[in-house]
Amino acid sequence: MPTTVKAYGAPSATEPLVPLTIERRDVGADDVLIAIRYAGICHSDIHTVRGEWGDIAYPQVVGHEIVGEVTEVGYAVTRYAVGDRVGVGCLVNSCGECDECRAGDEHMCEKGAIGTYNAVDVDGTITQGGYSTHVVVNQDFVLRVPESIPYEAAAPLLCAGITTYSPLARWGAGPGKKVAVVGLGGLGHMAVKIAVAMGAEVTVLSRTDAKQAESLAFGAVAHVATGVPGALAGLKRRFDLIISTVSAPFDIDAHLRTLRPHGTLVNVGLPPEALSLHVGQLVGGGKSFSGSNIGSIRETQEMLDFCAEHGVAPEIELISSDRINEAYDRTVSGDVRFRFVIDTATL
Ligand code: NAP
Ligand code: ZN
Repeated sequence: MPTTVKAYGAPSATEPLVPLTIERRDVGADDVLIAIRYAGICHSDIHTVRGEWGDIAYPQVVGHEIVGEVTEVGYAVTRYAVGDRVGVGCLVNSCGECDECRAGDEHMCEKGAIGTYNAVDVDGTITQGGYSTHVVVNQDFVLRVPESIPYEAAAPLLCAGITTYSPLARWGAGPGKKVAVVGLGGLGHMAVKIAVAMGAEVTVLSRTDAKQAESLAFGAVAHVATGVPGALAGLKRRFDLIISTVSAPFDIDAHLRTLRPHGTLVNVGLPPEALSLHVGQLVGGGKSFSGSNIGSIRETQEMLDFCAEHGVAPEIELISSDRINEAYDRTVSGDVRFRFVIDTATL
């Protein structure tokens, strides 16, 4: 018998989110039942429920930054026990058989990794996310959240953390590397903290100087207000690596000019609109423009352990569920410092 649980979800693309109930499947042999304690609000949740990335099924419960406690395990579960502090990120299943899954890149599954929400699960149901009190997840897609990471602050690591850790690790952010982070929101502030912990010299490229004090507090050496005419031109050939977390179209060419030869701009932001660049900006300095999508389960665990070891934790604003709609509007307007996290006890 599926269980009915409390949640907060979108009735349509244009209406505010409302309290509702959803069904969670029975705990299968390999499943873990998690009592969700906290759920982060990612800009991807907003793009999704507002239909900015295309049509979705409604009502839709989003949320893919989930932390909580294991309250029940299936008989074949070996990796988790009741009482464990765990997390769930952006995916809850994959085919397990394709080349990518076999290589441990299940988030790039050939058949499409099954997202934590708005995806069709193996049993044919539509997955529903973390703005809810409970979730049932296959043990292979559950993460262990180290005790030293503050409970309510751990949730944003499950998306914002891994999405920025993965490209920073892949492109070798570390001592001697100059890294720029574009956009100081949920992902951006994690990119700064993680790159600093990796030993890189970090500069924040933000629209205004409103968040300058925070950039420096996170360990950045500089905060540049890119809205000031000529600001980027003054940074020509400065960076080895740029991570862009911007959720809207931005001037890619101007940012490419701030790369050193052979440098890379990795775009993790997902604005609904197409972006454009002049390839001459790449050709001249042998530069690269790349993308990066969350990270594998293995790398997500690696990131959680890295953050615990280095004392890296997100800056959050903890909210009750009746403030979710306000939090959406504030996130879209850039008024977020730096991740809203829902206390699911208020659902
Ligand atoms: P967020 O908290 O809203 O942060 C985005 C930041 O981008 C803002 O704080 C702002 O920084 C900057 N920005 C916003 N509008 C802008 C504009 N019109 N021009 C220039 N800069 C602008 O969002 P988030 O949760 O970090 O997510 C960022 C993007 O990444 C979203 O598109 C999301 O869907 C995507 N995402 C991708 C992945 C992936 O796997 N690739 C994973 C998660 C999220 P400043 O105020 O400092 O300028
Ligand atoms: Zn996300």
